[in-house]
Amino acid sequence: MIKYLKTDPWLIIEEGFEPKHHRSSESIFSLGNGTFGQRANHEEKYSGPTLQGSYVAGVYYPDKTRVGWWKNGYPEYFAKVLNGTNWIGIDITIDGEELDLAKVEVSDFRRVLNMKEGTLTRTFIAQLNQPLLGNRDGGEAKMIKVEVVRFCSMDDYETAAIKYSITPLNFSGDISFTPYLDGDVKNHDSNYDEKFWTEVSKTAGEGEGVLVTRTKKTEFELAVAMQCSLNNAHWTKSSEYSKVASNATVKVDRNTTVVFYKYVGIVSSLNYDPSKCAEAAVIAAKRAKSKGFESMLAAHIEKWDRIWELADIRIDGDAEAQQGIRFNIFHLNQTYTGEDARLNIGPKGFTGEKYGGSTYWDTEAYCIPFYMATKDQKVARQLLVYRYNQLGKAIENAEKLGFTNGAALYPMVTMNGEECHNEWEITFEEIHRNGAIAFAIFNYIKYTSDDAYMADSGWDVLLGIARFWAQRITWSEEKQMYVMLGVTGPNEYENNVNNNWYTNYIATWCLSYCMEGLEWLKKNDANALAAKVKKYQFDESETTRWKDIIAKMYYPKKAGSNTFLQQDGFLDKELRSAASLDPKERPINQHWSWDRILRSCFIKQADVLQGLYLFEDHFTTDVIKENFDFYEPMTVHESSLSPCVHSILAAKLGYEEKAYEMYLRTARLDIDDYNHEAHEGLHITSMAGTWMSVVQGFGGMRLENGELTFNAMLPKQWKGFAFNVLFRGKRVHVEVTAEGTKVSTH
Ligand code: BGC
Repeated sequence: MIKYLKTDPWLIIEEGFEPKHHRSSESIFSLGNGTFGQRANHEEKYSGPTLQGSYVAGVYYPDKTRVGWWKNGYPEYFAKVLNGTNWIGIDITIDGEELDLAKVEVSDFRRVLNMKEGTLTRTFIAQLNQPLLGNRDGGEAKMIKVEVVRFCSMDDYETAAIKYSITPLNFSGDISFTPYLDGDVKNHDSNYDEKFWTEVSKTAGEGEGVLVTRTKKTEFELAVAMQCSLNNAHWTKSSEYSKVASNATVKVDRNTTVVFYKYVGIVSSLNYDPSKCAEAAVIAAKRAKSKGFESMLAAHIEKWDRIWELADIRIDGDAEAQQGIRFNIFHLNQTYTGEDARLNIGPKGFTGEKYGGSTYWDTEAYCIPFYMATKDQKVARQLLVYRYNQLGKAIENAEKLGFTNGAALYPMVTMNGEECHNEWEITFEEIHRNGAIAFAIFNYIKYTSDDAYMADSGWDVLLGIARFWAQRITWSEEKQMYVMLGVTGPNEYENNVNNNWYTNYIATWCLSYCMEGLEWLKKNDANALAAKVKKYQFDESETTRWKDIIAKMYYPKKAGSNTFLQQDGFLDKELRSAASLDPKERPINQHWSWDRILRSCFIKQADVLQGLYLFEDHFTTDVIKENFDFYEPMTVHESSLSPCVHSILAAKLGYEEKAYEMYLRTARLDIDDYNHEAHEGLHITSMAGTWMSVVQGFGGMRLENGELTFNAMLPKQWKGFAFNVLFRGKRVHVEVTAEGTKVSTH
């Protein structure tokens, strides 16, 4: 744990500038609006350690795969959402001295992320290296006070604005602003140290400019325009390769504040014809400037108010828990808005390069419930449509691995439907991801009652997935049962195992659910079914095998008990509790060799328990308890996706302390940097798990026979908590206090 941030219900506050925390803060204080996102890099030059990050959703580069030993079936590339044009940059000089927080003395530094309003504010006093005039031999130095506010507009997705104010505290002098747009940027994780962008065009103007850059290979064009405003400024302009800048110097009197504004328009060829991008970016930047900072901000705050009205969770009596949940909800909303079915949710959102901004099973297994219950149902539907649109590629992907007849294997990691992951034990074996994609369809239809989705596109995906499982299993003569060989379950600390219980279970469930969908189509939409039968050359006799698999699937289990075994041979391991590990060896993935991890019993993330969470109503509470008691002690939670599932199950089982411990771990994972990796970016997808921990865990929300039920538990650290869910057009408000649970609908 690294704790350096202040606790507040609506703010994340950093006081004092510590360069060693800066990269983590750049992640934690990130801003975004679903269309683009920006790490909390400083606007002015900073020569200390930093990870520049300015990302535009859907604009990616296929970075050529780099592996030690090539395996047939590996993808050619890993798609990366790119670090694009730096639009926040403003070089500042004061009486000729460049402002660089790594080179001046900084005091009163305060960085605030206002989650209610979606703004990032930085204030500080800088003591410059130059002395006051007449004091050349040392003595008092020039001091300036700076305040910078910025936001990525939630009201107008193509715009952002920065307000940069400087007050010379003990002198009058020349302050020069050089706002720029710099497209000559790199990805830190570039596999071959290549640059991914080339310049297309640029126009530098006086206090304005526009730059268009193009990604190599994918040929996305990104246009960024700036429009600046500074009283009494005489602008000059300049440009160099992939960069435009403009400069103005103003005289500022002691104790007077000079305020500079930079309005930015950001568009891409995802939404505009490439020949129109530059113009569209300029229009957006001008639109922002003509609205002005304060009225843009007011409209932006108004949008955040609407978001919070539905999505907020109030926790009384526990400031850390309160701040944690809002932090998670805030970032989820900054990452995905559901406006565009081509976009999805990268595990790090727009807060870092890791995971390339690509799509993982995280979306279906963790994120959909959050978006489904806090937004109009069309937002969650977009996430389903994303996979439907990629069905063809999932079929091609399965074909590459030798599957036939329309079997679909969705990629482990993808941008456009093609597989990007390149570790054989995951790419080829972590196939449970197909199950989560089918489960999301079930979950969505069950929650929203949008049954028509089955006919629109749901069943198409289910069929491809069912066909995959029907071919992926093996008949065991010895067992006279079907088995699933060579897989990796959700717990990636076991690879290439046979009969991962979770995978076997979800595979047969997918077959059953696809048949349920078939029956629904027969009864409700025979035309749609006829079209699908033709399109996919489906013959109902395929289901004979499916039924046989369902009837004869092997599920490993400890003899004489109801403990499901994570995989064959699990009991051969030395079973130890994670508590017996030397704290110095944790996280084990940073201290142990991989083979040692694989041979150990330690579990990275919920696996059997993931299945019991998803299919809770298939099992009695006693069975869930027995498995929880067996697996939880061996779980090291080294995946961010782990604590939330444990928190929910612990709450169900009445393990209040465990539920609370796991909740804090998921809610404050990044704020308190539990895994020492916040500098790489935030764990966006697990943030949706945090939301589930409160709503499904402590709130005990379940959906039974078309009705929501709440079986709440109030952790003793809390006085009460409250949340809303949108359910079939109604807003359901839930208040939990020591007196009980109150549910009202609006
Ligand atoms: C987890 C996966 C997850 C990925 C991205 C990994 O550490 O084991 O389950 O999909 O991170 O969040």
